[in-house]
Amino acid sequence: MSQSLVTMSYIVATILFIFSLSGLSNQETARRGNYYGMLGMAIAIIATALSASVTSYAILIVALLIGGAIGARAALKVEMTQMPELVAIMHSLVGMAAVLVGYANFMDSSLSLSGVEKNIHEIEIYIGILIGAVTFSGSVIAFGKLSERISGKPLLLPGRHWFNLCLLIAAVVLGWVFLQQTENGGGLSPLLLMTVIALLFGIHMVMAIGGADMPVVVSMLNSYSGWAAAATGFMLSNDLLIVTGALVGSSGAILSYIMCRAMNRNFISVIAGGFGTGSGGEAAVIEGEVTPINAEETAQLLLAAKNIVIIPGYGMAVAQAQHTVNEITKLLRDKGKKVGFGIHPVAGRMPGHMNVLLAEAKVPYDIVYEMDEINEDWAHVDVSIVIGANDIVNPSALDDPNSPIAGMPVLECWKGETTIVLKRSMASGYAGVGNPLFVLENTRMLFGDANATMQAVLKALKG
Ligand code: NDP
Repeated sequence: MSQSLVTMSYIVATILFIFSLSGLSNQETARRGNYYGMLGMAIAIIATALSASVTSYAILIVALLIGGAIGARAALKVEMTQMPELVAIMHSLVGMAAVLVGYANFMDSSLSLSGVEKNIHEIEIYIGILIGAVTFSGSVIAFGKLSERISGKPLLLPGRHWFNLCLLIAAVVLGWVFLQQTENGGGLSPLLLMTVIALLFGIHMVMAIGGADMPVVVSMLNSYSGWAAAATGFMLSNDLLIVTGALVGSSGAILSYIMCRAMNRNFISVIAGGFGTGSGGEAAVIEGEVTPINAEETAQLLLAAKNIVIIPGYGMAVAQAQHTVNEITKLLRDKGKKVGFGIHPVAGRMPGHMNVLLAEAKVPYDIVYEMDEINEDWAHVDVSIVIGANDIVNPSALDDPNSPIAGMPVLECWKGETTIVLKRSMASGYAGVGNPLFVLENTRMLFGDANATMQAVLKALKG
């Protein structure tokens, strides 16, 4: 393929990626956005495969087959609840690719650059490996935390901020040493040392983040993986990779900002670690009796209500209850009830998790509201149903300064007339904190798997 045709294809792919991002910003156009992205990626892969930069088709085909098979298997096997872990591990692969490409570039003796060009190329290699290594180790730890293989509790080393600062200074000094040594054909030792430091920094940064702040980490690693891809693009002189990486990097950064604002957190404090730990005192112990309720009584409350709000959380994803929830919603709306969904920005385990589930079950978009819209209206709500949510409806976020989730805005369902909470036990949510909502006077607990209890409620409503 001629170079101009490759460049044309790259421009088309870039435009499709921009359309894709714009489509993904809205539920109604998200599906179309995905198709644009898939088409753009297909064009990008074909154009790169047919470009002059490919020297061995045998290696390329074997790599495509291995990568494609692993990707297809992972996509077919993954449960909806494991999506966040899959995304985290995919980010780690981008980081690893940047590190490997960096070392391959460093060792490539066929490049004969000199002067400023050589220096710029070496800086690209150094920064590419640095970002790649932080993304790699940070994403592996995020994978561990999201899959609950590693505890969600923050690891708070004494003097952790000094530790981070020392690592940063060491990385800068080593960069200078690296540039000096490459003048005489060396540079491997500072590069290796910096890689170890970057890996340590990635591990420490994510280990220090408290459970409830993980959403920011997920979106931040998303952003890092974009910058790692852009750095790889610079090293390989591939324009498409630079542009695509920058798109992912900047959209991830915007998402991190949105998540921080939604959780009332300061971005720098979150990545410096140690957030999600409260103000240092002991969180209040939850005392009081819960009031259980059964499916029939729940159905009666719903039939007597006029205005109903449903709050889905991670447990709805685990129970795969979204289809039953949609059937109940249809039935209640047919009976003339006003039903709305209240979505917390960090509900579930990845940004937009609940919206994806509700869209899959074909819940109409116009009855799905954001937290701020719902929080203005609790005085008019007769019944709210909390389906497998916990941290996002925890009143202690607002009134207990020692709570690990202190300061995070939540859906204030207790301000409505009656709240029904569906969960299997009194266990805490992702942040590991007790929830005083469960013992409030106007709260009823419907224990059991959310899909089974929702099915029983549906049956009672029909009966
Ligand atoms: P939580 O993790 O706080 O609570 C989920 C609740 O669901 C649990 O208390 C559990 O209780 C219940 N549950 C689990 N399985 C079932 C089931 N089969 N049937 C019924 N109930 C079930 O989830 P929330 O959505 O309220 O909050 C999200 C949390 O995850 C926040 O802390 C957020 O910071 C964090 N997070 C969010 C990310 C994001 O991007 N959205 C990413 C990473 C973390 P029980 O075991 O008793 O049933």
